[in-house]
Amino acid sequence: MTTYTTANTVDEFRQHLADVQARIAAACAKARRDPAGVRLLPVSKTVPETRIRNAYAAGCRSLGENKVQEAHRKWQALSSELPGLRWAIIGHLQTNKTKLVAEFASEFQALDSLRVAEALDKRLQALGRSLDVLVQVNTSNEASKFGLPPDEVAGFVKQLPAFSSLRVRGLMTLALFSDDAAKVRPCFVRLRNLRDRLRQSAPDGIAMDELSMGMSGDYALAIEEGSTIVRVGQAIFGARATPDSAYWPASGEHG
Ligand SMILES: *Cc1c(COP(=O)(O)O)cnc(C)c1O
Repeated sequence: MTTYTTANTVDEFRQHLADVQARIAAACAKARRDPAGVRLLPVSKTVPETRIRNAYAAGCRSLGENKVQEAHRKWQALSSELPGLRWAIIGHLQTNKTKLVAEFASEFQALDSLRVAEALDKRLQALGRSLDVLVQVNTSNEASKFGLPPDEVAGFVKQLPAFSSLRVRGLMTLALFSDDAAKVRPCFVRLRNLRDRLRQSAPDGIAMDELSMGMSGDYALAIEEGSTIVRVGQAIFGARATPDSAYWPASGEHG
């Protein structure tokens, strides 16, 4: 197990961000990819506002959060103080929380139902806003994971042009939790292959460029397999006290 040290000060955040960017660059070099094609999304779930201020001072301009209410509370507390900070919702959403997301998020990476698409679109239209979205795919075939089964994604994506305030950009996944690359890599390959196929069949206005895959434990591997967005929490902010089972149902495969 990797241990993740906590960043508190601005300097510690600078160091952690530089370390992660260096590992991203190394993974890109190994895969002969341009590092400009990989976006780092720092994930600040459970992190209190005081430390988010320091992360911002160290250069963070976007943050991923798994829980809508937590994200919305932080946005309310920080938005006037930290201009230009963008919020990405990366966790499963219930229709009754779409109103909050429409209000403040700039990105939603976990779209997996037409009900949520419809509710979000309605809220966004009312506010005159639009939102970048990624479709979440369950590439690990674990019943406990959110996201659409891969074979349902093409049909789902065909319905999305009906929701004009959603700008569909690509796909997102959570790989199997394991230290064994031989188990994790196929999840990333599955998402990339699916994206490549959907590029041929996706309707007009639906972009299939982004692949949001890779977290603290597996982002180098994800980059080798084509990731364009890595969602990194603990390697930047430090180990979380809250177990991940509070965010996703337990998968039974923790490495
Ligand atoms: C928490 C979370 C991450 C980041 O995980 P780390 O282990 O902190 O890097 C990435 N994606 C999602 C959906 C998350 O909930």
